[in-house]
This record gives sequence, C-alpha cells and structure tokens, in this order.
Amino acid sequence: MNLRSTSLTGSFSVPNLPSDRVQARFKAQRQKSEQTRKKNKNTGGRTPKYLLSSLLKCAVCGGHFIMSNARDYACGTHKDRGDHVCSNNLKVRRTLVEDKILEGIKHDLLTPDALALFKREIARLTTEKK
Ligand SMILES: [Zn+2]
Repeated sequence: MNLRSTSLTGSFSVPNLPSDRVQARFKAQRQKSEQTRKKNKNTGGRTPKYLLSSLLKCAVCGGHFIMSNARDYACGTHKDRGDHVCSNNLKVRRTLVEDKILEGIKHDLLTPDALALFKREIARLTTEKK
C-alpha cells in the first residue's frame, strides 16, 4: 500500500511522511548502529564486572587474569583450558591486588606535581576543543 497516494476523509490528520532523503538518512544511521552493535558483540562487548578483570596478565602464558571464584583473580587460560595449556595455578585475592594497585596509583599519580600537570592538560585540551 502506498500511503502517499491514499486518500483519507474524516476529521483526523495524517502526519507528513518523511522525505526520501530523511528516510535514507534514518536507514543509514540504523545500519551504522547495527554495525557498531555487531562489532562490540564480536569483541565481547561486555564491560568487566571487576576493576582489574582482563587488565592483569599471566606471567606464564600471557593470558588475562579473571575472577576464578567470588574472591580471587586467576589465569583465565589455566581456569578454562587446564594445566596442560598454562601451568600457572596462582590465585590472588581480589581485595589485596586492587588495594595494592590503587595505593600505587594514589602514591604515584596524586602528587602535587602530577595534579598540576593534570590540570594543565585539561586546560590545554579544553582550549583545543573550542
Ligand atoms: Zn596463564
């Protein structure tokens, strides 16, 4: 049914149908969104639940450390594929490793000099965007 050629009678109105150009733009945006969604899906697309998930690397196989249970990070390769693929059976308490890393970040990055540099960079980036 071609809505543009349909004649309507009565006391109601039909909103203007979008032009072909608007429809084409809407279709392009929808396709782009779909591609982005598929791309994110292919890379996992999931936000890690824990602070350091996938940021810690196994020293034996180079795989990611992931939560192996409710309390500990461990090599995901060892956990999922076994001892014959990665022999690293080390488990690290999540609270311990997160506290130590955050302590290091605070110590190294939250100094007066680092904060001054941060403020200068923010000012520079803000100025560049204008
Ligand atoms: Zn490993």
